[in-house]
Formats: sequence, C-alpha cells, structure tokens
Amino acid sequence: MRGKVVVAAVALGAFAAAAAGQTIQGPGQKSNDPTPLAGGDASALLGSGGVGGDRSLAPDILTVSRTADGPLVAKKMAESERFSQALAAEAQKKQAEALRAKYVKPAEGSLTSGFGARWGTTHYGVDIANKIGTPIRAVADGVVVEAGPASGFGLWVRIQHEDGTISVYGHVDTFSVREGQKVKAGDQIARMGNRGYSTGPHLHFEIWDATGKKLNPAPWLSARGIKL
Ligand SMILES: [Zn+2]
Repeated sequence: MRGKVVVAAVALGAFAAAAAGQTIQGPGQKSNDPTPLAGGDASALLGSGGVGGDRSLAPDILTVSRTADGPLVAKKMAESERFSQALAAEAQKKQAEALRAKYVKPAEGSLTSGFGARWGTTHYGVDIANKIGTPIRAVADGVVVEAGPASGFGLWVRIQHEDGTISVYGHVDTFSVREGQKVKAGDQIARMGNRGYSTGPHLHFEIWDATGKKLNPAPWLSARGIKL
C-alpha cells in the first residue's frame, strides 16, 4: 500500500509540475531533493509531514487527482457552488420583494380639498398641495395607460393596477413615463404642477374602480395603510 501511495504521489507531483510548466521529476529522484519545483513537490501536497508523515488528507487528493473523474468532480463542485449562490441571490430578492412597500402616498403636501361636493359640483378626487416640481409617485404597481394632455387636468397620468383600479394624477407640470410602461409602487412618474383648471400648485388625485366609478381616494388609501 505504501509503495502504491508513493508512486501515486510522485505521479501527482509530475502532473502538477507539468501543469506548472516545470521539468518533470523522474521517479528515481529523492523527495528531499533541494531543486525547487514550484507546485510539483508531492510531499507539500500531502501535508507538512511529507509522504512518510501525516497522510490524513492524502487519500482524497490522490483519489480525485489520479482518476479521470478529477476534473469532473471539480466541475460538479463549481456547479454546486454556483447553484448555492443563485439560490441565496433568489432568496434575497424574494425577501426584498416581501419587504418593499406595495402602496405609497402619491405626493407629500397638505390635503387642501377632499372628495365630494364642492362649489355646487362634485370633486372626484383629493388635492395635495405643495411646490411646483414636488415628486409624484405611483401609489401601487401597475401599467401606465395614459400620460399626456387631458381637458381640465392640463396634463395627467393614469395608471392601471392589477385588480383593474386606475389611479389618476392631474395638473402635473411634467411627466416621466409613457403609455404601456410598467411602474412599481413609489416610482416617480411626474412632478407637481398648476396646469389646467387649477388654482395653485397641487396634485389632483383620483381612484377609479374597475368599472370606472370614481371612489373617494382617502379611504381607498387608508385601507392600504396610507394616510393623507
Ligand atoms: Zn382636485
């Protein structure tokens, strides 16, 4: 058995030397030969004790290295490592997705007008006033169904959400999305303006249900954890 190990060890040394571009050491050469042989010293590969010392690690190294399966095992290990990393990345992505806000406030500012009767007519949304240019954000994930001019609204953006609900953002100064674009809750879609039928810089925000009925946005948002 010992002889077999030595032969294998020398063969391993020769293999490593060849891989390192060094002269192949003959089997007759002594293991304590002082000639430096980078990567080719079998005793170094077999542990500090050399061939005659502690060989606890040797059988594995030899088994893997002297069989045709060596490169295959290394490849499988690399594949397994990549698989674990992909799993960890996927888990991290899922956790980030679970933690992100699914609903956000459409804009920061003061609530200046609520939903309902106003000036002898009906105000079908809520008004949030702030400076021109204040970021306006998608309240939930969805798809932009319209971004452009609209009578009375100046410019508006409408976003359809998964359940068919549409959120409307009116009087915007500028918008930065286009029809068909997918957005996530919190994505900036526009900036606050004073266009259309408006008496000062504010966002006019509406919620339409899947049938097109205009709902009071305040309780709709409140039910989703957002206070205006
Ligand atoms: Zn309004």
